[in-house]
Amino acid sequence: MNVILLGPPGAGKGTQAERIVKGYGLIHISTGDMLRAAVKNGTEMGLKAQEYMTAGALVPDEVVIGIVRDRIAEKDVEEKGFLLDGFPRTVGQADALDKVLSSLGKNLDAVVNIIVPDEELLDRLTGRRICKSCQKPYHMVFSPPQKEGVCDTCGGELYQRADDTIETVKNRLDVYHSQTSPLIEYYTKKGVLFDIDGTKGMEDVFGDISNALKAKV
Ligand code: ADP
Ligand code: ADP
Ligand code: ZN
Repeated sequence: MNVILLGPPGAGKGTQAERIVKGYGLIHISTGDMLRAAVKNGTEMGLKAQEYMTAGALVPDEVVIGIVRDRIAEKDVEEKGFLLDGFPRTVGQADALDKVLSSLGKNLDAVVNIIVPDEELLDRLTGRRICKSCQKPYHMVFSPPQKEGVCDTCGGELYQRADDTIETVKNRLDVYHSQTSPLIEYYTKKGVLFDIDGTKGMEDVFGDISNALKAKV
């Protein structure tokens, strides 16, 4: 099974990805995680991406398409299927993904569209903390770790992303509405889109996603 997680920043894509990957054995491909790793390691791609990410803008399509194309062609993805998180984010990326999939003889089974209003996204993103080691998302109020500042799963240190500040979050929401939300219509037309109410509790959201995917497994 090959699945895309669509939704604005803060909708709960990373939170649900952890559950979906555990439940269905898919390979999690998060372009945000990959880009942050490249920035941290100071690679050429990381140096290119950093200024866009800090501003809350999108990294140019050709950079992101390249990393996804390479990752999707790997053997583990062939065997288990993928869960794309944070990609595609533009119609250009979606068209490129179509081409990559057809060249590899793969199908897209479902696009899970997680819907949350902007006011709630602002609260979620400004209170978000991430594990430095395994990238698991937490929230200071909505899903705090058992021990302050420490990841429940791996013991890693929690940190606040540099782009989770009010100003940058506002830019990222604008970017979502102008550049990414057209993908809702794009995938509706293909007949693969499932709308999910992302304002429910995390386990209820996962239950609704599981129901949507049931027909696809
Ligand atoms: P969030 O979880 O808040 O939606 P991500 O971790 O997916 O954010 O992305 C963080 C930043 O990384 C984005 O603001 C953007 O700069 C860059 N980025 C991630 N995925 C893409 C993509 N598919 N296309 C362009 N830029 C991306
Ligand atoms: P995304 O990957 O879409 O940017 P995350 O999964 O990182 O979103 O979630 C954003 C923030 O909101 C995190 O702090 C997370 O703990 C919190 N969060 C996720 N899902 C929910 C939910 N259903 N209810 C309340 N808070 C949530
Ligand atoms: Zn961790």
